[in-house]
Amino acid sequence: MRLLIAEDERKVADVVARGLRSERFAVDIAGDGPTAWRMMNEVEYDLVILDLLLPGMSGTEVLRRLRKKGSSTAVLVLTARAATADKVENLELGADDYLTKPFAFAELLARVRALLRRPPAGRGHVVRVGDLEIDRLTQQVRRAGKKIELTSKEYSLLEYLSSNPGRVLTRTMIMEHVWDESFEGLTNIVDVYVRHLRSKVDDPFEQKLIRTIRGAGYSLGDDSEDPA
Ligand code: CA
Repeated sequence: MRLLIAEDERKVADVVARGLRSERFAVDIAGDGPTAWRMMNEVEYDLVILDLLLPGMSGTEVLRRLRKKGSSTAVLVLTARAATADKVENLELGADDYLTKPFAFAELLARVRALLRRPPAGRGHVVRVGDLEIDRLTQQVRRAGKKIELTSKEYSLLEYLSSNPGRVLTRTMIMEHVWDESFEGLTNIVDVYVRHLRSKVDDPFEQKLIRTIRGAGYSLGDDSEDPA
């Protein structure tokens, strides 16, 4: 899952980002309103943690634009403003939850999880591809009923592939979704992790679900369901 933190207090943003990254989320940070709005138009975030008092454009304005666009990205408003009128205004504009500063990270995390638990329209939190089952809530993966242990990046990669079954995902798309902007590393990192993932999810089984599309990228699918 990929999250955006729109927060101009760098210290707060860094602490929250570090905590969320250790919980297997890919996290980007925007330090002002216009940057947050631009990033939300470039990346489809699963959730945005939105400070209200942002330079350039208020969090309220960012939220208003986001909902006007029809986006259903979950929004958790984070602010020092505790007035009831502010809370009501933002909830009416389409914020999903509200947390007042100062806050404990544990509470933020609990609220983030609660919001992500609400399934996007028409989809539950368990994704099935063939005999592979991914529970997006508990982050447990099973194949043919057997539990598979994955590292956090392997899990994120599998979750992203499974959220677009049958679709070819390029290395760039995978990089952008699974690794956040703080990542600087090998360009073949995607191939390396796909190999790791295959060794656990595909190698022990006869039917292979992760497909390499030469010159394009990867796709996850159950071949037996494909029309001949
Ligand atoms: Ca602020």
